[in-house]
Amino acid sequence: MAYIRCFDCDWNQDDFWTEDYNPIISIFHWKDNFLEYLKKSIDKRKILVGKRFMLDYNVPGEPNGYGDFNIEFKDFIMVEFHNIINRIKNMKWWTEKDWKNDPDPYCPICKSRHLVID
Ligand SMILES: [Zn+2]
Repeated sequence: MAYIRCFDCDWNQDDFWTEDYNPIISIFHWKDNFLEYLKKSIDKRKILVGKRFMLDYNVPGEPNGYGDFNIEFKDFIMVEFHNIINRIKNMKWWTEKDWKNDPDPYCPICKSRHLVID
């Protein structure tokens, strides 16, 4: 898998989409995992996340004393949906073929032509 990022600003896009990797498949995978979690913890309405999650998403949470935090499950769901929406929103070249066939690829944010494929 490979993705495109801009050398001159923070823009990047998701890995190129294929039949086996795309946001719709991610949503189905996500749904199965979270339905299972929700069945187990619907009464608590909390989920344990790490410090990295707290720094990245700035949601309210309570430390558990071991370096992790309990947050509202609804906040966790909102972050996950937000991330999926951003993956879709930032996608300029859906496939590697789209990328290779673009005669003049440039960053959709800063218009730089200094793009990197990782
Ligand atoms: Zn850029």
